[in-house]
Amino acid sequence: MLTKELKQQKLRKRGMYENVMKQFNTVADLINLNPNIRKILGITNNELVIHFPVKMDNGEVEILTGYRVQHNNALGPYKGGLRYHATTNTDSVKALAMWMTWKTSLTGLPFGGAKGGIQIDPSNYSNSELERITRRFTYALGDNIGPDIDIPAPDVNTNSQTMAWIADTYMSTRSPSDRSNNQHVVTGKPVGSGGLEGRDRATGYGVYLNIKFWTKENNISLKNKRYIVQGFGNVGYWTAHFLEKDGAILVGVQDAYGSIANVNGIQVEDLQQYVLQNKGSIANYPKSQPIEKDDFYALSCDICIPAALGNQITEENASKIKAFLVAEGANGPTSVEGEKILLKNGIMVIPDILCNSGGVIASYFEWLQNRSGEFWELEEVLIKLEKKLKKVFKKVLKMSRKRNVDMRTAAYIIAIERIEKSYLQRGIFP
Ligand code: NAD
Repeated sequence: MLTKELKQQKLRKRGMYENVMKQFNTVADLINLNPNIRKILGITNNELVIHFPVKMDNGEVEILTGYRVQHNNALGPYKGGLRYHATTNTDSVKALAMWMTWKTSLTGLPFGGAKGGIQIDPSNYSNSELERITRRFTYALGDNIGPDIDIPAPDVNTNSQTMAWIADTYMSTRSPSDRSNNQHVVTGKPVGSGGLEGRDRATGYGVYLNIKFWTKENNISLKNKRYIVQGFGNVGYWTAHFLEKDGAILVGVQDAYGSIANVNGIQVEDLQQYVLQNKGSIANYPKSQPIEKDDFYALSCDICIPAALGNQITEENASKIKAFLVAEGANGPTSVEGEKILLKNGIMVIPDILCNSGGVIASYFEWLQNRSGEFWELEEVLIKLEKKLKKVFKKVLKMSRKRNVDMRTAAYIIAIERIEKSYLQRGIFP
């Protein structure tokens, strides 16, 4: 039996696909996208649904379902994360894959867009079960992934350990002479196994930088600005970590287990220590007050950072938001109707494909590092990341001013026109 919360989440996922299609069609109309290219970009190239058996610790075999959707590879190999979540299904992964195509195009990377995952709640499995699940799924994906074909990365409930298992399984199934040429089948690996220094923090650092660029552009200082974060995982924690260094104050957090607030501020590192000791949950953090789930987005603050799942800011709660800026750490956290309300209320939105693109840019660095056999130091990585992100931010801002559109529309125009240009240059085979 599905719980009420899970049912709601499934509905939100269906909404995500509708959202991404609405966003795409609006921009396609606006730029008068070539009708043939519109047909190509409006569908996904490949949708894999894989049922695979895994032996559990008690000796029983469970059949699990995994997904990989490859939306488009006009600009290079498919690229996108893998999430382990009970609501993972074809529709949600299709939406997320499409967003990846726009993101890699916007950021000027030589990648296309994909996304995938397994329909499980990982908290129901032991570590060794998760390892076997990951390895068996990788084996089942076979040649559908590869360093020049499709390159997964971490996403919700997956991390560098998951990527290490995938890399090892994939490399073990190649011939011994080819093994080390395949390390970059995934990015987001641990640093000791071909991973990039700083990949762990890259997405959150990018969210923070985008907020910094935006506030600087608007002559606003981050010092003492109050912010709320939904999701205190990889993206949420690292964003908060960097914002705190600039003097911003965390006043509310929500995760899958609870919602907390403190008008006097929550110390980011102290909360992170608590979360690490509390099975990844913020619930019952003693130096805060618990609040109702539905009151989270109504908290008084300056900046609001959704960094959990899709379709969280909708027509139901958008009008409660008091911040002047929404910075989308998550993919697809704001519905089309939700965004209309935000913009009408004068709230600016830094869109996901720009705001959280630090992750895929760092993944590109890791891929390059593995291909060339180089090792880049943390400082070097963060400098390169900032340079690239600043360039993309400025491009989006310029486009939004030139065409008098919001930042999401501007980002989509840049992303879609780049792919359109490539198709027009190359034509359609045969
Ligand atoms: P994560 O698994 O590390 O953390 C997810 C967080 O969201 C956890 O704190 C979890 O408790 C919380 N959460 C889950 N369900 C929730 C719910 N219903 N309500 C409130 N909170 C909930 O995942 P992550 O890597 O931080 O990814 C978060 C978001 O950022 C996702 O949308 C992901 O697609 C996006 N993203 C991640 C990366 C990356 O590099 N990891 C890059 C770009 C975008």
